[in-house]
Amino acid sequence: MPRPILATVHPQALRHNLARARRAVPDTRVWAVVKANAYGHGLERVFDALRGADGFALLDLAEAERLRALDWRGPILLLEGCFEPRDLELCSRLHLWHAVHCEEQIDWLSRHKTQVPHRVFLKMNSGMNRLGFRPDAFRAAWTRLNALPQVDEISLMTHFSDADGPRGIAHQVATFEAASADLPGERSLCNSAALLRHAHTPLHGGLTLAADWVRQGIALYGSAPDHPCHRAADWDLRPTLTLSSRLIATQTLAPGDTVGYGSTFTATQPMRVGVVACGYADGYPRHAGTGTPVLVAGVRTRLVGRVSMDMLAVDLAPLDAAGVPASVGSEVVLWGVAASGAALPIDEVAQAAGTIAYELMCAVAARVPFATEPEPA
Ligand SMILES: *Cc1c(COP(=O)(O)O)cnc(C)c1O
Repeated sequence: MPRPILATVHPQALRHNLARARRAVPDTRVWAVVKANAYGHGLERVFDALRGADGFALLDLAEAERLRALDWRGPILLLEGCFEPRDLELCSRLHLWHAVHCEEQIDWLSRHKTQVPHRVFLKMNSGMNRLGFRPDAFRAAWTRLNALPQVDEISLMTHFSDADGPRGIAHQVATFEAASADLPGERSLCNSAALLRHAHTPLHGGLTLAADWVRQGIALYGSAPDHPCHRAADWDLRPTLTLSSRLIATQTLAPGDTVGYGSTFTATQPMRVGVVACGYADGYPRHAGTGTPVLVAGVRTRLVGRVSMDMLAVDLAPLDAAGVPASVGSEVVLWGVAASGAALPIDEVAQAAGTIAYELMCAVAARVPFATEPEPA
């Protein structure tokens, strides 16, 4: 028998989360952001559930090719645009829309030979200082692009650094508006957090922040971008990925006994611990310490001691106290949904490990087999 660890993708939850975004902004088109292999879920595994989106946004040209291989004929947006001039050939051939965030990308376009003019998303750096033209250079970039025969339609985009937090987006919205309000073209501003928290912020001319395209990533995958301020359930988002395993051993500890490398956990009373076939080589965060929540046989308990490469240990006292049997073979849910229906939000595990759900989803290791939950007919 292979090691019992398994990652399960829940297509119905993906459908639900997409529908939830649509309901929030019915007049807006939705990009399903599927970069990083659909946030670790697997592009091919999420495709059917997310094909109701208006387009797919990603960064990797190979992932764009995989989407076309799935026979997706709709829009695909390269969020970082091209990395070198010859990427433009693939954009022409596969009809990829692409961000334009720097002068070099305009230079490459101006020398590109194509029969099909490209649809581009001109990106403004409105304060995040990652990608994009500064506000005072934005109009000149637009004018330059607009004069190119290689360019068809120009849309305008920017990205927020603090849509999930107390600093908010007002300063970036003001910057974006001041430098672009009179330019024509569709807009795309919102990531998941901006859609959930700020979608109705007004822009010029009766537009709102949700115009015209929202870029939805993490919310489609059932995590609250502003956890712990909100939980996923508060936003009506459902978990799309379960990481599960089983107990492969149990140990009975006496007071003073310790668990795992570094002996960071010491029993203060007699107790049983379970040993789980899941470690940091599976992508489980090593920084998750004693107290990180875990479900064993659907019962919430905690991790004890250090996570090792292939194993971690869990406290079985809550199960023993409740009379729930726990032995070799018992189901363990590291995050997601148990067979009983009990849920452990990935956001809680991420928080306990000092990280975010995005990182946990993307970190599930190649050695972990994936399954897709069957959908009711
Ligand atoms: C990843 C990404 C998104 C999606 O962000 P979420 O927080 O996952 O919704 C949107 N826009 C850009 C430019 C991105 O890189």
